[in-house]
Amino acid sequence: MANSYNQTMSEPTKRVAVIGAGAAGLSALRNLLTTTKTFIPTCFERGSDVGGLWLYNRNTHTDDNGMPVFSSVYRDLSTNIPKDLMAFPDFPHKDGPSYLSRPDVCDYLQRYADRYDLRKYIKMNTFVQNIRPNCKESNTKWTVSYFDVKQKEEIHTDVFDAVIVCNGHQEKAYSPDIEGLDQFKGEVLHSHNYRTPEYFAGKNVVILGASFSGQDLAVGISSFGKKIFLSHLKDPLLTVLPANVMERTGIKRMTKSRVVFLDDTEEEVDVLLFCTGFQTHFPFLSKDIIQVISERVTPVYKHIIHIKYHTLLFVGIPKLLCYFPHSFEIARAVVNILNGNVALPSEDEMLEDAEKDFAQRKTEGLDDAKAHFMGDGDRQWRFNKDIAKMAGFKPLPTAFQRLWDYVTIQRDNHFLTFRKQNFKIIDS
Ligand code: FAD
Repeated sequence: MANSYNQTMSEPTKRVAVIGAGAAGLSALRNLLTTTKTFIPTCFERGSDVGGLWLYNRNTHTDDNGMPVFSSVYRDLSTNIPKDLMAFPDFPHKDGPSYLSRPDVCDYLQRYADRYDLRKYIKMNTFVQNIRPNCKESNTKWTVSYFDVKQKEEIHTDVFDAVIVCNGHQEKAYSPDIEGLDQFKGEVLHSHNYRTPEYFAGKNVVILGASFSGQDLAVGISSFGKKIFLSHLKDPLLTVLPANVMERTGIKRMTKSRVVFLDDTEEEVDVLLFCTGFQTHFPFLSKDIIQVISERVTPVYKHIIHIKYHTLLFVGIPKLLCYFPHSFEIARAVVNILNGNVALPSEDEMLEDAEKDFAQRKTEGLDDAKAHFMGDGDRQWRFNKDIAKMAGFKPLPTAFQRLWDYVTIQRDNHFLTFRKQNFKIIDS
């Protein structure tokens, strides 16, 4: 069955709202502008520039406009995958080391916007407050309400034929409940609000969570902090860590000044730093339209398209993958869907497919919270092949997978040195 959007495609132009000007939003803009001449995009970006979370903000909590700080990146951040895995297919990185510094990534995204003249479609400093469908039909138009973050008083509204949501999912900090946390007299922080390691000089710090951020912050803080306890539920890490970083089991409870671990060992600490990730949210869409249940976004087909409203699409729901190339590929699929070039199955078939994907993840040992997790194995490449087939384009080169697998092993085994290696993808 052809998707219902193409029933209206006889009109000469379609207005499309893109929410966010990070890697995903830029991919959406670029594809809207190149794949077809049919679309007139408007991108709404709450920040003052292009770059998404790579646009560093030294402030925490509240920005200069009195808005909640969006970005979770820290001053000394370097990438955890090489730049070949962080490139859009139509814009290679500059020569130089494979692992980029945070400013280099932001610079890349800003040069991309300049190279393809995308800025003229972006309303900067503009916060999208609300997006609602104009009717209950699958090809509904959308009313977008937004305001200027510097003025705030005046709310504007505008109507679009379709909306592409690219708002990122590393802004809303998640931290688990911990018994006794309210009694703890030390400082409690989330990695979202971490900026510099000097802040921890002379302190004993317990970091909860040993994924990329947990390990990275432990290593960074170790140069200034006294003792760093890296608390996590994984098997012991394979890598060597600095001498003052000690792995511990998960946290059982906090007391006034101590952390008690699951194995009942205790340590005196000054700071508890959560590196426990983020929650996906779409605060501008009502719960009747989209729900996030334990990190599962529903109802969406192939992690991309709203099953009921085919004019509501998402770039950036999948987690832990090569974000930049995948964002470009997803955006390409999105634009093909909006073009009416993709034969979408019926609503029931799409729901069934989404359930099947969720169930398959369970059999692969992933819990409910990993409904959109790609990460290990060949999941991200299967996903890419699936959407490439659906939308009629070539999937990413197999060299990507080989490089991803290789650097994953290097990072797991040599966390202190993995960024010293350099790579170049040569086949396609
Ligand atoms: P974002 O970059 O988060 O962009 C979303 C945009 O939407 C923002 O500009 C935001 O201002 C805007 N926005 C949100 N809500 C609204 C609204 N209501 N109105 C208007 N605008 C809005 N990925 C890698 O590939 N390699 C790495 O090394 C790597 N390191 C990382 C390190 C950290 C600490 C973190 C947190 C993430 C890292 N990532 C890394 C993942 C990162 O998420 C992706 O690289 C990529 O930036 C995601 O792009 P995005 O466009 O989906 O989201």
